[in-house]
Amino acid sequence: MTPVDVTPAVEVLEAAKSVTILCHIQPDADTVGSGLALAQVLRRRGVPVVVSFAEPAELPVSMRSLPGTELLVSPDRVPREVDVLVSVDCGAAGRLGALRDRLTGATTTLVIDHHRSNTRFGDVDVVDEAAESTAGVIARILDAWGEPIDRDIAHCLYAGLVTDTGSFKWVRAGSHALAERLLATGIDGATITRTLMDTHPFAWLPMLSRVLASAQLIPDAANGAGLVYAVVRREDTEAVRSEEVESVIDLIRTTAEAQVAAVFKESRVEPEHWTVSLRSHANDDGTPGVDVSRVGAALGGGGHRYAAGYSTAGPVSDLVANLLRELAHP
Ligand code: MN
Repeated sequence: MTPVDVTPAVEVLEAAKSVTILCHIQPDADTVGSGLALAQVLRRRGVPVVVSFAEPAELPVSMRSLPGTELLVSPDRVPREVDVLVSVDCGAAGRLGALRDRLTGATTTLVIDHHRSNTRFGDVDVVDEAAESTAGVIARILDAWGEPIDRDIAHCLYAGLVTDTGSFKWVRAGSHALAERLLATGIDGATITRTLMDTHPFAWLPMLSRVLASAQLIPDAANGAGLVYAVVRREDTEAVRSEEVESVIDLIRTTAEAQVAAVFKESRVEPEHWTVSLRSHANDDGTPGVDVSRVGAALGGGGHRYAAGYSTAGPVSDLVANLLRELAHP
């Protein structure tokens, strides 16, 4: 597969007079790291720039030590009109949440992403589904642009790279080369990773105990590939952060008897409103496994072949039935 041409992104950014960078709702370190890295480059070039995301109201605690957070503004402070609006790591306009309305006030919209399900909602779309992370796409754009990656920018890009590869478990050719380049700037990779991925409050342990007890295995789901799922109810999440809730899928998906894993996460504000994480993987013989990007998209969301999600509402039994029905499609 020939790599996606990043030149159109460079041309838009080179000519930009002012820039708004938007990250996706419920931001992860790939969207925030990518956004802050690009914002710091633009600031260095003297271009007015802000970064934002629609929800939640606060940046997740684990990301607060990223360089460039002073460029983050609350959604109400995102200008209505701007020369260039860049969305990073968003597969669809809906991932911008309430800030989606800013798309219409921009002279040019630029979408930088790596989601297989990307709907190409920008005037210019640089979507590289072969990239392991949006941070990796940003690195390629900076190289093509001739903008050096300094230590602070490397810190932000490393944050995206290490989280989207699950600490370098899901890597592609080039992932380690990028990591080596970023580490060579002097960043502390071990501390960045521990802060982002390997630090939880004690309350995580009793939460996991309750949630893992809800796990169910349906071996004949997905035409025999199998489904394992767990349910995170709102009362389970009172003492923990989004980071702890998001960690559950990484335990559930290790189940040997099921290729597909799902975690149903109840909203903290609206009872029986859920976001659903889906994971899958290749077959042991290397042939492609269940495409959860397709499943997520069919249920109103999207994502990557082996990592996707969607939002839904209703009792758990209905959610499971709907998911099983969609998984039964070949
Ligand atoms: Mn990503």
